[in-house]
Amino acid sequence: MRRRGKLFVISGPSGGGKTTVIRELLRRVPRLHRSVSVTTRPRRASERHGAHYQFVSKEQFTRLRRQGALAEWARVHRAYYGTPETPVRRVLALGEDVILSLDVQGARQIRRRFGRQAALIFLRPPSFDHLRQRLLKRRTETPEAVRQRLHAAEREVACAAWYDYVVINHRLRAAVDHLKAIVTAERLKTDSGREDAKRTH
Ligand code: 5GP
Repeated sequence: MRRRGKLFVISGPSGGGKTTVIRELLRRVPRLHRSVSVTTRPRRASERHGAHYQFVSKEQFTRLRRQGALAEWARVHRAYYGTPETPVRRVLALGEDVILSLDVQGARQIRRRFGRQAALIFLRPPSFDHLRQRLLKRRTETPEAVRQRLHAAEREVACAAWYDYVVINHRLRAAVDHLKAIVTAERLKTDSGREDAKRTH
């Protein structure tokens, strides 16, 4: 029987290194695919449409949401973000896995919708000071936006407790090793905790 694909959700404060960690993980783990979100946020100079995000207007986003085309969506830092459902379902149906970078509201929706088929991982910066330095170094946000993101980070870190795993991103190599171990463990897990599996026993 073909295995069911899994969803790996990574959350963590903006500037916490999610993008880099995910890129490295994808290089090292086969049969793992990144979901490309839609967003109404303006494109940064370093980003490409269709690769980092699909950049859409507010109207296009609302249309997708109303059509039920999004597996989850949320308003984060004054913009809308969402995960197109069809590409995710397509990967899962092939028995392969998907990695999603979501804020905490999105992670909650994925847990509600996919239950234990989703593994929720919180990527924590070693300290708020680290985070401030990273956000300032990135130079993509205004000082006001940095302040907002740090404020949001405090709220987000408080949510780490209901995630399945917490990984501290102190050194890239170690963080990626830990994520790889989580993917391996989740792939080896039985389906015994699944609601429909329980009913058949
Ligand atoms: P950024 O604007 O820095 O790329 O992302 C801001 C935040 O939005 C990050 O925490 C990121 O994980 C989250 N995010 C990105 N795509 C999605 C999505 O499709 N849905 C949700 N809920 N959050 C997302």
